Formats: sequence, structure tokens, C-alpha cells
Amino acid sequence: MVIKDLHKKMKEFPKVDLHRHLEGSIRVESFLDIARKEKVKLPTYDLEAFRRLVQVNDEPPDFINFLNKFKVARGFYPNRNSIERVAYEAVEDAARDNVKYLELRYSPTHFASVQRFPEEEVIRWVQGAFERAMGNYDIEVIPVLTISRNYGIELAEHTVNIAVKLAGKYFFGLDLAGDEINYPAKPMAPLFRRAQDAGMGLTLHAGEAGGPENIIEAVEKFGCDRIGHGVQAAKSEQAMTILKKTQTLLEMCPTSNIHTGVVRSLKAHPLKMFYERGLSVSLNTDDPMVSNITLTDEYVNAVTKMGFNEDDLKKLNIMAIEHCFHPNKETLKKKFAKIWNKGKEIKATRV
Ligand SMILES: [Zn+2]
Repeated sequence: MVIKDLHKKMKEFPKVDLHRHLEGSIRVESFLDIARKEKVKLPTYDLEAFRRLVQVNDEPPDFINFLNKFKVARGFYPNRNSIERVAYEAVEDAARDNVKYLELRYSPTHFASVQRFPEEEVIRWVQGAFERAMGNYDIEVIPVLTISRNYGIELAEHTVNIAVKLAGKYFFGLDLAGDEINYPAKPMAPLFRRAQDAGMGLTLHAGEAGGPENIIEAVEKFGCDRIGHGVQAAKSEQAMTILKKTQTLLEMCPTSNIHTGVVRSLKAHPLKMFYERGLSVSLNTDDPMVSNITLTDEYVNAVTKMGFNEDDLKKLNIMAIEHCFHPNKETLKKKFAKIWNKGKEIKATRV
């Protein structure tokens, strides 16, 4: 099939994305538009020059370089409108890509910091925007709270306190992101226990830039339901055995892994190998704006470069739904059974 036809087919394919950061899903044009209207200082107002600051381009793949793409936005958001706008547009973009269920993770601190907005207010604004977008498009979105390894335990604790208070209403999952090499996850373990006690699902960026021992720690010490990336499990029989036994879902984001330099090429990516071994895996974007991709692009890559067929892709989506943090998973499963299975019950089918 020619790529153009495959792209059209994959765009039409109803998709689930469990690992997408709102901070990495902001339209480049919106940054500039908001900056001009609200007189926010940016290093450049030229679209192409700005793209080079916030998107991966032809520089060598590197993890810290990838994280630096978020630096410009960290001091950006001038008011409530700008936060609501980018949250709405992120859902709109996913819906136009035919993502039917999206877990959009974000750090309220990221959006609140410059103007010192109360984080709880930011959470309500973002939620309002998600709900408006859901009203206008055929997509279901739930937020997942992200705390960062880099900003220290106190800030993380403050955010988790709010999330726990709002759990069951706003937040259904907790995620740990940031620099895995220089900031170990261990100090955050009590916060994850509290979130779990409040009924939130747990996911942790582990085994991305760091080693497979971080994946084992996330499963055994944190009791995570899912792992962000986990590509380094490929280097450890022990990690793969634990992941298979526990059926902890790996939220995999192949293009992001290329851009952070943790995997050399899409052909060398372990997603298909994990899938064939019977691990639970799903296919996601991570940061569509930073990587300049859509989930459709990832599906095309999965077919052309990673050896997946349409039936495999359906199974990846079913596994994703089985592991999602949606508060009413059964309703969601029924909705997807209609889409994928002509109404028959969906179950994670092992290969
Ligand atoms: Zn991520």
C-alpha cells in the first residue's frame, strides 16, 4: 500500500493514547499568537526560528536536549484564557487524528508557576477546557497528574495533596516524569502510595534513559499499573519476566525514544519484540508537538518499520483499554467493543 493510502487508513483507525503530555502538545502557532496578544516575551517571534526551540529538528538525538524543548514554555502562560486555549486545542488535535480515548497528563505547576496561579484553579480551568472539547468532538479524555523528579519532593507533595483531595472527580492517575538519570524515583514512593490509597492508578517514567532496574523498582516497590516507556527492559530477562508475569502495561512512544536517543532506530525499537513475548504494550505519542508527529504517524511507522499489522494494532488498543485509568472502564470497553469488535466483548487477547 502506498504511504498516502496507509496514512489515510491509519488516520481513520480509532485510536487510544495513554501517554501524552499536555505540555508537549501545544500548537507552535498558538504560542506565538498568545505571546503577541498578551505581550509575553519570547526569544523569537519568527515561526520557523521558534519551531527550532520547541521541536526536535536535525540536532543529534539526546535526552537532555529533548527536555530542554520544554524550557521556553515553562515561563509562558500569562492568564487563564491561554491555559484553557491550549488545553482545548490539544484535545481538538487528538480528536481530529481520530483518537477516541485520550489520557492527557500534565503538571499543574508547569502552567501555574509564572503567574503564581493556585494549582487547584489551573486544574479546574484545564478540566473545563477538556470538557468543552469533549462536548464538541467524539473523544473521551481524562487527565493524569504529572509530578516531576526535578522539582523536589516538597513541590510534588503539594501537588499530590491537591490531587488526592480531587481524586475520583478530576484525577484518576499519577505519573512521575523528568530526568530519570539524575533524580531517582525512590523519594517519591510515599506520594505514590498516598495516590494509590486514594484510588488513583499509577504510572512512572522508567527504563527510558535509566536502566531496567528502574522498571523493576516501579513494579515491585511502587506497585505501578503501567510504565512510561520501559524500553530498557529489552536489556534484562528479569525485567521482561516480571513485566510479563504482572502484565504491567508498557506505554511505548517509539519516535520520542528516537528523539531522546534511547533507541537507535524504529527498526531497533523493542515494541514488537515485547508484544511477541506476551508483554502488555501500547502505542502512544508522548509529545506530539515536540516530536512533530501525530498518533497516526506512529501507526504508519508501526506498520512500515516495525512489522505490525492492523490486527496487531487493534490488540495494542485493547490492551491499552484494559489498563486505562478511566473510572468507568466497563462503559469504555463497551464503547470500544462497538468500534472494534462489532459489539462483541473485548478482552486483551494474547498472541
Ligand atoms: Zn512521557
